[in-house]
Amino acid sequence: MISDSVVFLLRTFRGIISPFRRKTSDSQLTQDSSQNTQGNTTDMASNFTPPSPKPELLVLDVDWTLWPFHTDMDVSPPFKKDSSGEVRDSRGKAIQPFPDVPRILDWLKGNGYTLALASRTWAPSDMERLLILLDWNKYFSYKEIYKGTKTKHFSKFKQNSGVPYNKMLFFDDEDINIHEIGNIGVMCIFVTNGLNWNLLQKGLEKYAKERS
Ligand SMILES: [Mg+2]
Repeated sequence: MISDSVVFLLRTFRGIISPFRRKTSDSQLTQDSSQNTQGNTTDMASNFTPPSPKPELLVLDVDWTLWPFHTDMDVSPPFKKDSSGEVRDSRGKAIQPFPDVPRILDWLKGNGYTLALASRTWAPSDMERLLILLDWNKYFSYKEIYKGTKTKHFSKFKQNSGVPYNKMLFFDDEDINIHEIGNIGVMCIFVTNGLNWNLLQKGLEKYAKERS
């Protein structure tokens, strides 16, 4: 399989490839104060009323949006849960999402949002395994996880959910996805430092304002 070879190369040469693949460097990430509010907004879930109208489908990218790594490059399978319940890769690296993400997923589900995952990873089975170990499949009504342009992923969402593009909201950390999916009429929010409460709130408010 070509994808297996690609994943092997990505993981073998991760030290060389990583700076080129992830355009926003770690130093830029920590300097971006506008979105750098991870974990600082613990009361947000109880204080924030969902703006209306809500998107009929809220689509989330996975790598560098929900967790701070590329599944096909920065972590090594097999993955498993240790005795304390922490998910780890074969080298012992802890698999942890961005700090606000677990409560955001709970909040979205609890407030009646329909959620979807869209990923272009080269390692879909590894991503599926992590979704199981983190117990995240309960949050998502739709998942499209495979290589290729994300217009294909969104075409599937539209087909399977019946939701038109202009009733969807999408969060992603890559320019190209934001550009392509914006062009088909989906409102897109660019993520620079992982999904957090501030960004979620901004996105939902922007949607409510512009789609009312
Ligand atoms: Mg991403």
